[in-house]
Amino acid sequence: MSFKLPDLPYDFGALEPHIDAKTMEIHHDKHHGGYTTKLNAAVETENISSSNIEEILANVSKYSTDVRNNGGGYYNHNLFWEILNPNGGGNPTGDLGKAIESTFGSYEKFKDEFSKAAASRFGSGWAWLVNENGKLKIGSTANQDSPLMDISDFKGKPIIGLDVWEHAYYLKYQNRRPEYIEAFFNIINWEKANELFKA
Ligand code: MN
Repeated sequence: MSFKLPDLPYDFGALEPHIDAKTMEIHHDKHHGGYTTKLNAAVETENISSSNIEEILANVSKYSTDVRNNGGGYYNHNLFWEILNPNGGGNPTGDLGKAIESTFGSYEKFKDEFSKAAASRFGSGWAWLVNENGKLKIGSTANQDSPLMDISDFKGKPIIGLDVWEHAYYLKYQNRRPEYIEAFFNIINWEKANELFKA
């Protein structure tokens, strides 16, 4: 039993100009690849029998910091690649679009609140849109913590996650995290986000 690094569902350069090809290559192959390798090592060392990453994260307080960091990194990046799409962006559609409007007032207000969560996360971490018992919430987590973790102070089922580690944007945007955040909205895969919302 071991966790596999998923292939990207598009080419490294597919998200240009919003996210550059070199960043995508290093981010997927080296960073996500590294989390995957280290998660597998930790799972073996600690004799964790579950092969369900969501289940492991939900019980992560029972395991080591290696499982927390690399299990979170493994899951978060799996989600991240899926909620990006070269043909994404625009206004959210379907049931999720309606829920965003009724929860936040409008797509613009949602965008504003999500951007603030992403910009104000100090150091490395993630900004999230989650579903907590049918209610949409925006927040952030530090490092590779996930809203699925029992130890997280921000909980829910992830619908959208934005990686705000410097490795996600520094080659192209350097210290200009807000520009990277703005670019993200051009490539959100709302179709996938809707699937996650309804699941
Ligand atoms: Mn990352």
